[in-house]
Amino acid sequence: MVAEIICVGTELLLGDIVNTNAQYLSKELARLGIDLYFQTTVGDNHDRVRTAIDQAFSRADLVILTGGLGPTKDDLTKSAAAAYFGKKLVFNEQAYDHVKKKLDSYGIHQVTDSQKTQAMVPEGAAVIMNPEGLAPGIIMAEGDKVMILLPGPPKEMKSIFEKCRDLFISKLTNRVIVSINIKCKGPDELPLSEIGESPIADLLGDILDKDNPSVATYSKEDGVLIRVTASGRNREEALTIMKPVVMEIADILKDKIAWVKEAD
Ligand code: ATP
Repeated sequence: MVAEIICVGTELLLGDIVNTNAQYLSKELARLGIDLYFQTTVGDNHDRVRTAIDQAFSRADLVILTGGLGPTKDDLTKSAAAAYFGKKLVFNEQAYDHVKKKLDSYGIHQVTDSQKTQAMVPEGAAVIMNPEGLAPGIIMAEGDKVMILLPGPPKEMKSIFEKCRDLFISKLTNRVIVSINIKCKGPDELPLSEIGESPIADLLGDILDKDNPSVATYSKEDGVLIRVTASGRNREEALTIMKPVVMEIADILKDKIAWVKEAD
């Protein structure tokens, strides 16, 4: 299964906020063994969000969008998503009840027109209630294409994503991905001619061309990081697949290695 993430928000493009939603979702998808080849950040503009959705579905089966669900954004993400599937936005009783209850819990007993728009969802979509806020998560599926809409605020996004993951996304895949980080010593311990990214890559040679597990090097100020990533039907299988390669790297780099541990 291949997924893409689209984060909607002009604030992201202006650098006013850091895209922690993309980071969180990328890690979660990797843990689920779902491939992710592209992420898109797009401003609060209906047509550009729609274009981003078209592009994402030309390359992926699962597209997850965050942001642009609030009433102040004119239902930007919901309307672009509904348009992709040729659906209208319709009133959802369950989502409305949730909005009312949530507002009640804040001591607000009247629902404004803009708050009511939180209960408008694409026709036929499944709605996942938001324990942390008003905007529900939305799942739309047609054929083998699945789209998930999540609110922008990270706490809300995470709590709805977790529900989607446990109820639904985890059933779309039968793979898990496990990564092991091998950290090389830094320039304060050994000369760069021995532990710079190029000399390390030269020592690893063909190992860097492997597919499963894949092996990649990352240059860090305190020494090169080597990430070995394997995909398997479960964690044990992934670890079994990567073990000989981790051993081979350990054997080649020997005392150039500072530590080895599983990635978060
Ligand atoms: P709201 O109803 O709160 O407006 P929304 O779904 O429309 O929700 P946005 O308005 O796009 O979400 O974003 C609300 C806030 O959530 C932003 O101001 C920002 O603080 C945070 N946020 C949005 N997108 C991201 C992101 N990709 N990474 C981190 N934080 C984000």
